[in-house]
Amino acid sequence: MQTQQSALGPIPVPAAGECASGLFTFARDEGLAKYTWPYIAIAGAASGPTVLVTAGIHAAEYTGIEAAIRLGRGIDPTHVRGILLVLPLLNRPGFYERSVYVNPEDGDNLNRVFPGDPKGRWGERFAHRLLTEIVTRCEYAIDLHAGDLIEDLTPFVIYRETGEAALDERIRKMASAYGARWAVKCAPTGERPGSLYALAALNGVASMLAESGGRGLLIEQDVARHVRGVTNILRAIGALDGAPEAVAPPRVVNSFDWLRSPLEGIFHTRVKIEQQVKAGDIVGELVDLVGEPLATVRAPATGVVLFVVTSPAIKKDGLLLAIGAL
Ligand SMILES: [Zn+2]
Repeated sequence: MQTQQSALGPIPVPAAGECASGLFTFARDEGLAKYTWPYIAIAGAASGPTVLVTAGIHAAEYTGIEAAIRLGRGIDPTHVRGILLVLPLLNRPGFYERSVYVNPEDGDNLNRVFPGDPKGRWGERFAHRLLTEIVTRCEYAIDLHAGDLIEDLTPFVIYRETGEAALDERIRKMASAYGARWAVKCAPTGERPGSLYALAALNGVASMLAESGGRGLLIEQDVARHVRGVTNILRAIGALDGAPEAVAPPRVVNSFDWLRSPLEGIFHTRVKIEQQVKAGDIVGELVDLVGEPLATVRAPATGVVLFVVTSPAIKKDGLLLAIGAL
């Protein structure tokens, strides 16, 4: 609980019981300040926690972006306790470029560069300003994602534990209230750290990431899942009036195994999202540009397919799919 704040970094907070939307920027940095970012800020009539909902750190993950906008516009401030700040599009440079995975300003994945660097590349400077001026001023943070433009996925949540018991308990409470079937609580194999949700948690903010939808499609069911999941989290943490819906907690997978391609080629996937596979099962085949077989790809672990890349055009080391080990 905290008293009413008049601003969260560069974003003005409206008077209690009111909602405001607009654009903000990060001043004193030419590269950042040429962009503006959308926000919706809701100040509850009653006091309570400061909660941040972000989306679009991957610019073509539209279900997250749409759900964040819908949440910001749909929640009545008279039902809010505390402050709800919605930033529906973090990767502002990538949105109209329809960038997959990366930020066109520097080619980096914005969700791998936290905590950032005030003297670094575009994304590192953005990450530093976002984390220090906004994220760490909040008690809770929820980052909404989807499969990217060329990914399909089954809904899941991701969080990391910090070793601090009270904080981890708050994080688990959030992840359990979303209503996803699966949860990942460890870093993906072979991937760099530096995710927003992870660095938020390491800075004392109860935070998590939720995945729903993908392939560049705005499917109502996928958007609605995010809206319902976040609404339920807000109720569970006391940021919104009303009793939370009782939902089954997610099953935590043992590891999150990302498969990358041994060479470039055309990938024929042999599995679907949510399919359960055994270690050694064939999950796809790679052929060259005249159809000659190049490689057979096998599951590295027994588990559930959490996401698949839907584009067949795969570079060497390109991502193919991910398995949540069971
Ligand atoms: Zn994403």
